[in-house]
Amino acid sequence: MSIEVRNISKRFGNFAALDNISLEIPTGELVALLGPSGCGKTTLLRIIAGMESADSGSVLFHGAEATHVHTRERQVGFVFQHYALFRHMTVFENVAFGLRVKPRAERPAEAEIRERVMNLLKLVQLDWLADRYPSQLSGGQRQRIALARALAVEPKVLLLDEPFGALDTQVRKELRRWLRRLHDEMHIASVFVTHDQEEALEVADRVVVMNKGRIEQLGTPDEVYSAPASPFVYRFLGNVNVFHSRLHGKWAEVDSAIGKAKDDSLAFVRPHDIEITREASSGALQAGVQHVQAIGPLVRVEVEHQGEVIEVELTREQHQALALAAGEIVWLRPRKLRVFQGNDMVDSRDFDLGAGI
Ligand code: ATP
Repeated sequence: MSIEVRNISKRFGNFAALDNISLEIPTGELVALLGPSGCGKTTLLRIIAGMESADSGSVLFHGAEATHVHTRERQVGFVFQHYALFRHMTVFENVAFGLRVKPRAERPAEAEIRERVMNLLKLVQLDWLADRYPSQLSGGQRQRIALARALAVEPKVLLLDEPFGALDTQVRKELRRWLRRLHDEMHIASVFVTHDQEEALEVADRVVVMNKGRIEQLGTPDEVYSAPASPFVYRFLGNVNVFHSRLHGKWAEVDSAIGKAKDDSLAFVRPHDIEITREASSGALQAGVQHVQAIGPLVRVEVEHQGEVIEVELTREQHQALALAAGEIVWLRPRKLRVFQGNDMVDSRDFDLGAGI
């Protein structure tokens, strides 16, 4: 079932939590709402769920107006950060709960409930824990049970609010992959809230980047990361170097790109979009290496140009070929940059630097 959000606004007192949000999520798509704390992600999710009412705008499910439809009738499944399993019920009873509270006419027979619950527990690979209580489970297991419980009523839409927030990195990673598989098998529309950029980029088909109650950008993970539509998205999704007129100096490419715009424009370049060499070349910017640090598969090189620090990211292989050390003089060229004036993009350039290093 597709979800459509049309011109939704919501205030709490004088505070605009959501400001004219529109969004369409087709069946089969997994969408991440990503943004800093307080940007309105949870409020939007709650409005989609029918747990909160909007001041204006509408929510449509499968093209039909659902704004005033009660949560119970929306066929949505929820999962929240803090598991919210019933402590006094076994795993089996937790998953069965949504089916047992259905009106008598819709309630499946006991044998069918048993079969459906056990199938779901197999799906989340925890059927062997059916008789345990929530307190006897690990965090990751509880979260998988919470998902099984949400899926028991065969929702047409799955809504997850920071579902893996409280778990450690390894478990989070596993659950992300697992959520992706589960979502694909169910063929439903799913929306999950996260403030973790890596989680959004890794799992979602599309990412909605939110800031102060508005959508900054809506796109595939690659689009929002490689082609940010605003300075906010650049900064929120990964590291970025910002070049202004004071800094770009002799960097001809940046100079000419910024030159077209006014003085208050800024050029944004991702650390991995900077080529670093020992040889001077036309249009390259001279800088001094300050610090070299290996972080996992990458090597971060901090260089200094006219008192400003520029961050360059290399793969380990790229760095092996160069073997840079603090104190060396290097030359930098951008591969890709975007220039913004305020929030407006005024230039976007890709430079062909040849084979590179
Ligand atoms: P977080 O990542 O911290 O959960 P969020 O992006 O999910 O943040 P929301 O929970 O949607 O943010 O809240 C958006 C804004 O609206 C916040 O500034 C919050 O304080 C405010 N807000 C949310 N619910 C209420 C409420 N019931 N009454 C007053 N203000 C509220």
